[in-house]
Amino acid sequence: MYLCDYHLHSTGSPDGTMTIPEIAAVAVERGLQEICITDHLDTIYWQTYAPRDSFDWAASLKQLSQAREQYGSQLEIRLGAELGEATIAFDRAEKLLSDAPDLDFVIGSVHTASEKFHFMDYYYLEKRDEAYYQAVMDDYLDETVKLVRWGKFQVLGHPTLPLRYIKNNAGLTLSFDDRMDRLEEIFSLIIPKGIGLELNINRGDFPLPSPAILRRYREMGGEIVTIGSDAHDARYIGVQVRECQELLRQCGFTHFAAYRRGNPVFHPL
Ligand SMILES: [Zn+2]
Ligand SMILES: [Zn+2]
Repeated sequence: MYLCDYHLHSTGSPDGTMTIPEIAAVAVERGLQEICITDHLDTIYWQTYAPRDSFDWAASLKQLSQAREQYGSQLEIRLGAELGEATIAFDRAEKLLSDAPDLDFVIGSVHTASEKFHFMDYYYLEKRDEAYYQAVMDDYLDETVKLVRWGKFQVLGHPTLPLRYIKNNAGLTLSFDDRMDRLEEIFSLIIPKGIGLELNINRGDFPLPSPAILRRYREMGGEIVTIGSDAHDARYIGVQVRECQELLRQCGFTHFAAYRRGNPVFHPL
């Protein structure tokens, strides 16, 4: 089986700890055939929320060529990005993309709530009552609809992300499965545009989105799914890729996607 990890953060991300050659070494050791580096390309700076419209591509390209030189015969290494917070400033998102080198793959991600919640990064989600989290989840879907209407990326990243932090920060396990109508609205926007969905391994915790949501996307005609660990360090590179392939099979998929220059390349499951 062809094994890919399509969501990996290197030192090009503020919270990444490994260089691209270091990531490639671990990927080879774990038997992966292909990886895609998807560093944070955000319209705001992490923690300060200051506007951001540039990225140090020279550093990434240098590491990429070193990694390809060392591991290129054993591993396909693609360059992508995780475009975050486009909804805060679509003009800056467009500048970030137009200044980038030719990327194979862009993930579109929502990590922050809307103005109603003061653009709170879900990472900092406080311990509150369940009604608060339900409101955050509704707001997340509103932001996601805005993002997919704009749609200048290849897959929607870690759908239902607030669940990660509701669990990590408050110990609560909630679900988006009872908001299927809103998810269907999102799928009806992305499927005709050829935008896919990411199955985010969530660093080995529960997958994002849930099997029920993956199944609904498939039933509606969705075919494009990438698999990514969202690793920021060596522990999670390539973790549970095989299990996620099996999950996709169970949800009715026959292929998963990798990408070349923005176009999906399908591999059988
Ligand atoms: Zn993300
Ligand atoms: Zn990420």
